[in-house]
Amino acid sequence: MKALCWHGKSDVRVDSVPDPKIIDPTDAIIKITATAICGSDLHLFDGFMPTMEAGDILGHEPMGVVVEVGAAVKKLRPGDRVVVPFTISCGSCFFCSKGLYSCCDTSNPNAEIARKAMGQSPAGLFGYSHMLGGFAGGQAEYLRVPYADVGPVKIESDLPDDKVLFLSDIFPTGYMAAENAEIEPGDTVAVWGCGPVGQFVIQSCWIMGAGRVIAIDRVPERLAMAATHGKAETLNFDNDDIYERLMSMTDGRGPDRCIDAVGTEAHGTGSFDAILDKAKAAVMLGTDRPHVLRQAIRCCRKAGTISIPGVYVGLLDKIPFGAAVNKGLTFKMGQTHVQRYLRPLLSRIENGEIDPSFVITHRLPLEKAPDAYKMFRDKQDGCVKVVLSP
Ligand code: NAD
Ligand code: ZN
Repeated sequence: MKALCWHGKSDVRVDSVPDPKIIDPTDAIIKITATAICGSDLHLFDGFMPTMEAGDILGHEPMGVVVEVGAAVKKLRPGDRVVVPFTISCGSCFFCSKGLYSCCDTSNPNAEIARKAMGQSPAGLFGYSHMLGGFAGGQAEYLRVPYADVGPVKIESDLPDDKVLFLSDIFPTGYMAAENAEIEPGDTVAVWGCGPVGQFVIQSCWIMGAGRVIAIDRVPERLAMAATHGKAETLNFDNDDIYERLMSMTDGRGPDRCIDAVGTEAHGTGSFDAILDKAKAAVMLGTDRPHVLRQAIRCCRKAGTISIPGVYVGLLDKIPFGAAVNKGLTFKMGQTHVQRYLRPLLSRIENGEIDPSFVITHRLPLEKAPDAYKMFRDKQDGCVKVVLSP
């Protein structure tokens, strides 16, 4: 089959690779009909994620049709149409039974590598390094899905792929980020990053009862989407002093809730800390560029909450933890427990409450994936979200 493979920094290629096979009786094989590129894939493309190997198949936002199931699979049959969550979870360990699917104790076959790095291993993820399982990803013609009775959600209506695909990741991710922000009715929420995740964070903040949403980015079409689809007030970090603006917009108190939907590759126009981060990352003295996290800690109102859906990789430098402690901030973060949100969010789509396809700006064949990665990373041609079809 054809699949998008990682070969090194800024080097992804569509290669011919062997078709996936059923390995465990709880596996299913899916023929992919639509598969998206995520901001998390950019951390791999930009070479920030350790334990990637040449030839690794990328992609963790897929959907398709079941073509084969293992002997133990009960809920799926060939012909079923499914969306596949990016988190691989067993459904029965200590964490899965609490609904903490991205912390699954059993799905990562390389748990020992992750344990050495993090103390304990999180769940395995599709197409996201050997430390997180070495699972082949879904930017391919076919995908092997482990624990097929636990992850995939069946789409029984005739909703098109575009409307349900983002249940695989970014819609639940935005929703969980807003939930983690502990929004109380009427709260002012500041959202850093108006990429695809930021857009779903904004939508979800309103669902949680926010009174005001202030969205921050510098890419004009992303800010425009936040303002039109998201009905957010917007700030451009190239032109605005974010701290000063947020203070003056909140009578000097600061936003009640701050959400970092940027993560490890933050830019910081002219700011000293961001220049230092970039220099250190360039010579491998540091992995992460946590400019947004620093700014969010500084801006957040006392006793407020910082929610972090943005992905960080390693050791973060110069985090103003003293400010966080003395201001009494709460931090919540994590890879999304996608399985927990699939059915409730599918209902919202089916009811017509939300149509997640508004973020799609580009639909391309899988063969064009290498160009699509560059376009998405470099924000060319108004690109906000790419959907590939194999
Ligand atoms: P993206 O790269 O398309 O968007 C990031 C946006 O942040 C860009 O528009 C960029 O201009 C903006 N940005 C950069 N520096 C900024 C700054 N200083 N202030 C404000 N905005 C700034 O990525 P995405 O797909 O939207 O994903 C966002 C983050 O969420 C990534 O880190 C991704 O890895 C992460 N993610 C996490 C999960 C999870 O389960 N927690 C799931 C999906 C994605
Ligand atoms: Zn993703």
